Amino acid sequence: MTLSTTPDSSTHRFVNTINGRAVDGESRIEVINPATGRVCATVPEATAEHLQLAVAAARRAQPGWAALDVAERRRIVGLIGQVLTDHRSELANLLVQEQGKPLARAFDEVDRAAKQLELLLAIDLHDDETVDSLNRPVRIQYRPLGVVGAIAPWNMPLVLSVPKIVHALYTGNTVVLKPSPFTPLATLRMGELVAPLLPPGILNVIAGGNDIGRLMSEDPGIDKIAFTGSVQTGKHVMRSAASTLKRITLELGGNDPAIVFDDVDPVKIAPRLFAAAFANSGQICMAVKRLYVHERIYEALCQALAAIAERTVVGDGAAAQSQLGPVQNKMQFDLVRSLLDDARAAGGRVLGGPDKVAGQPGYCMRPLIVADLKEGTRLVDEEQFGPVLPVLSFSDTEDVIRRANATQFGLGASVWSRDLARAQHVADRLDAGSVWINHHIGTDVCVPFGGAKLSGFGCQYSLEGLRRFMQAHAVYSPVSLD
Ligand code: NAD
Repeated sequence: MTLSTTPDSSTHRFVNTINGRAVDGESRIEVINPATGRVCATVPEATAEHLQLAVAAARRAQPGWAALDVAERRRIVGLIGQVLTDHRSELANLLVQEQGKPLARAFDEVDRAAKQLELLLAIDLHDDETVDSLNRPVRIQYRPLGVVGAIAPWNMPLVLSVPKIVHALYTGNTVVLKPSPFTPLATLRMGELVAPLLPPGILNVIAGGNDIGRLMSEDPGIDKIAFTGSVQTGKHVMRSAASTLKRITLELGGNDPAIVFDDVDPVKIAPRLFAAAFANSGQICMAVKRLYVHERIYEALCQALAAIAERTVVGDGAAAQSQLGPVQNKMQFDLVRSLLDDARAAGGRVLGGPDKVAGQPGYCMRPLIVADLKEGTRLVDEEQFGPVLPVLSFSDTEDVIRRANATQFGLGASVWSRDLARAQHVADRLDAGSVWINHHIGTDVCVPFGGAKLSGFGCQYSLEGLRRFMQAHAVYSPVSLD
């Protein structure tokens, strides 16, 4: 059921939510619709004072929230899921305007956020019992950390915010959430919509720029930062958090390899590989970003991918025919274009049509395949986070494993083969937090998700991820005083 109509983002006055109340700001951030390059809304820009109010509210609310039993916390957090479902149309339309993705994919994002919430709340939170070295029982309780600062990027505003909220609230923490200044609309609106349903102060949502993120990471009133974003910013967060020894979970960038052996049908798997590389116009942390294809099927797979790229409709996410939307912002658009120019200069063979979308303002780019590249070119070595995929050739299994692992990134990886024993063997040797066989982008909230090497620190999802929001508290057996 949809309870509300889609607000006109240019007239709706977006506000921060602090202590359960709407808080406006004097200066405002302009939000650009990437399909048009024009301002589609403004949001209040949180100041250091707003952050202090939000942290104070979260701190005040935390003991009472933690004192509720888990079932009651689960019920209340579940109300956020209900809001996502009831307002899915409104939120999806805001995602289209601020992020650029096609409406159907925006609906997917809202639905996925609601599903992740439901599945996370189904994970049993429990204390443990163990024995010490003398075989005496020890109870291990898991207690909330306090206040969690959640910081999100612009590629999946709700899918990367809602699980952070759920991890934190379900485990008895309270939250200050900051969306990306590029995509604050759906997140702020969610904050407004859930405010009347939640105890005041447990979820504060403030829009702010990078400075507010830095202040959150330094703030002694925040006990943990749950961050998703680039490797570079992740390092800043780690540095800022050091002064207070804050707990941190960092979900960072990737340069995921997919390795395709010659026993698969290239035409048959091309659509799956294309989706794994170009969903959300390549702006997914664990998208396929380097494709290694056995030399025997190399050309056939390049051509099959190029054929899909050529017929893919790219445009404004609000247009019904659009299958892919624009790159989300000008900085990223310029970066992807520069990687493409560099790849061309390095001898890359660009397949899939012109990169420009005729007659479309904003930051639309057509999906492109770049063949004949080698390691040592920027498009292969760096994270492109956009709709350009380098395809490399290999002939030897050991060699391709070495090449796939020769990177500072380690988020995800995949192996594609009918020979499952071989695929398993290769998967076991890939240095990544998640590895898939014959698919990619397959995270599941029941399984820990975190990056290896520079792709992350800690993990989220599953009981293990939830416990990253808690402190183990071991209570040893009494020793006799006699
Ligand atoms: P970003 O690092 O530029 O920004 C992310 C967030 O950090 C924003 O809210 C920003 O305002 C804030 N921020 C900026 N400087 C800060 C600082 N000094 N201290 C604290 N916060 C600060 O990332 P982005 O460009 O928004 O997102 C794209 C990146 O995110 C890509 O590298 C992508 O791979 C990565 N990503 C990772 C995952 C994952 O789960 N591993 C998921 C999605 C995106």
